[in-house]
Amino acid sequence: MNDYSEKKIWRIVARVDDEIIIKESMRKERAIRSARNAVVQKLCTSVNINYEYGWWKGRARLPRVSFVDLFLGDALLVMKDDDVDIGVHNVPNQFYLVDDVRAIFFSGDSMIAENFDSFGYYHYGEGDSEKFPVLGRKITVPSTITGTKGYEKEEVIAICDAEDLLDCCPNCKGEVPFGTIMVVTENYRLLPTNCCNKMHWYRASDGFGEEWA
Ligand SMILES: [Zn+2]
Repeated sequence: MNDYSEKKIWRIVARVDDEIIIKESMRKERAIRSARNAVVQKLCTSVNINYEYGWWKGRARLPRVSFVDLFLGDALLVMKDDDVDIGVHNVPNQFYLVDDVRAIFFSGDSMIAENFDSFGYYHYGEGDSEKFPVLGRKITVPSTITGTKGYEKEEVIAICDAEDLLDCCPNCKGEVPFGTIMVVTENYRLLPTNCCNKMHWYRASDGFGEEWA
């Protein structure tokens, strides 16, 4: 690589509300990816939901990425020292609805058992503050348990101590780890077990029903 090409970078500009986001990288894909992440972080902050690490994974990926891309301008190959010229990037001024962003970016599709703690928080990142209380949130119930085609969402109405309810882990049959919680929605129960990192779903009608009345 000669000096000339080393000075060229991919630059992408995005806008959320009135905030301009600029991302640069030697690699076009990386510039786009970090711009997308920054847009999602900004959107989540704006609508008061927690940024979910790994939002681009899983079945919600395509609608999420398409939505985020509405906020991105063109990625252009520029000289590293060039001033940022927002005009040439065709940065959209994208309007959005708070409810849409909430619906798109908090689904809980990618939740995994080991990220639940014993206080009922879900940890979406490594940092101490990167967590949110599950209570009051809508979580996604997989279609394998709902029996419907799509995913259903239900609000978490209670968090309970699972040790009192189960003798052993339904999956690995080991002792239910200290601090394991049961997540309660109107029609479903979720038991995230840390011993084997499994999400166990139950219908309320199949048991565990009376304890919560
Ligand atoms: Zn287990």
